[in-house]
Amino acid sequence: MKKLAILGCTGSIGTQTLDIVRANRDKYEVVALSCGSNALALAALAAEFDCELLGIADTDKYAELKSYAPQADVRCGDDAIAELARCDADIVVVAVVGMIGLRAVVSALECKKTVALANKESLVAGGALVNELLKRGGTLCPVDSEHSAVWQALRGERDFTRIILTASGGPFYFTPQSELEGVTPERAAAHPNWSMGKKISIDSATMMNKALEIIEARWLFDTLDIDYVIHPESVVHSMVEFADGSIKAQASFPDMRLPIQYALTYPEHAPRAFSELKLPLTLRFLPPDEDKFPAPRLAREALKAGGNACAVFNAANEAAVRLFSERKIAFTDIIKIVGDTLAAEPTERVRSVADVFETHNRIYDKIYLNYRGN
Ligand code: NDP
Ligand code: MG
Repeated sequence: MKKLAILGCTGSIGTQTLDIVRANRDKYEVVALSCGSNALALAALAAEFDCELLGIADTDKYAELKSYAPQADVRCGDDAIAELARCDADIVVVAVVGMIGLRAVVSALECKKTVALANKESLVAGGALVNELLKRGGTLCPVDSEHSAVWQALRGERDFTRIILTASGGPFYFTPQSELEGVTPERAAAHPNWSMGKKISIDSATMMNKALEIIEARWLFDTLDIDYVIHPESVVHSMVEFADGSIKAQASFPDMRLPIQYALTYPEHAPRAFSELKLPLTLRFLPPDEDKFPAPRLAREALKAGGNACAVFNAANEAAVRLFSERKIAFTDIIKIVGDTLAAEPTERVRSVADVFETHNRIYDKIYLNYRGN
């Protein structure tokens, strides 16, 4: 039995992780569960999976959660995920949204645990520090479908020349640029191929998701040779090119439960509990349009600048996505704010996780407070 801590258990990745546990009760035991504020859903999952160690970020929800789960050991506040990541789990699934996930990743790796990582913002903001920690122990298993694809394609290989990420293009790849300004949060959050949390759906619509994934791949696979292509069918999840021009691709039905399960069972490919890819089918690989969707170009600039630039980039996006969700700014303002912030902020050295949080909080608050009154 593998013991799992599932942080962000009420979200899209969290609930799909629990689907895998439901289908494999003899293989997994859930020893810790956490969420942001949804006390009722967390208590229901705690009862279903007989889990007594719970975390909730929203301190105002402590009493409510305790009323539903009086026997539980409840940790609350921003540090709850870090406390839960230190529990006796074999694998810590980090499926919270936002760079707050870095607290859990650091805490789990300090205890030399295996982390199944869905949360990309933590690597974007703190990738260099996470890699330093990994030198001392612990393992990082990517859950993000593109990075799982690269991880799978690299098995048994010694070297590669290029990573080619695939991108669905989001809901607006074929939409004229002139229509983007009027896009509503509801339209932006409706992804054509995947059912995901609100933030990543909006990130997919701006192509910020691919931008974050380029940075994520840089830290996971230690390379800057990362390209991407638009692949509207989301069947090929990414590719790796080798010196002789050979390209290995990983393909499957677009279902996040596959990369989640692989992160839990690595190096085994466990039996499938989800849809099968039916062949034949027609696949397209189209060029990106960085005039219309410049986020990946900005990500490369942030990577080149180094220091805290990627943390600035991520924080600006987190604040801008929230403002857009609250209808305080237009869809097209998101990337404008990210680009303007990146251009204006002097790059600073990052020595510690505290430095990353300082950058994040400073940039996030500056942007959010500036536009909140709109
Ligand atoms: P969701 O919004 O669906 O879920 C987020 C989870 O995090 C919820 O359990 C939420 O709790 C919890 N949470 C929110 N705020 C906090 C906080 N401050 N502290 C602790 N927990 C918090 O997101 P997704 O599942 O879609 O995405 C999770 C991560 O995985 C993101 O980083 C995303 O980029 C990445 N990812 C997601 C994919 C997907 O298909 N969904 C694919 C690849 C990567 P509550 O319910 O109480 O709000
Ligand atoms: Mg992805």
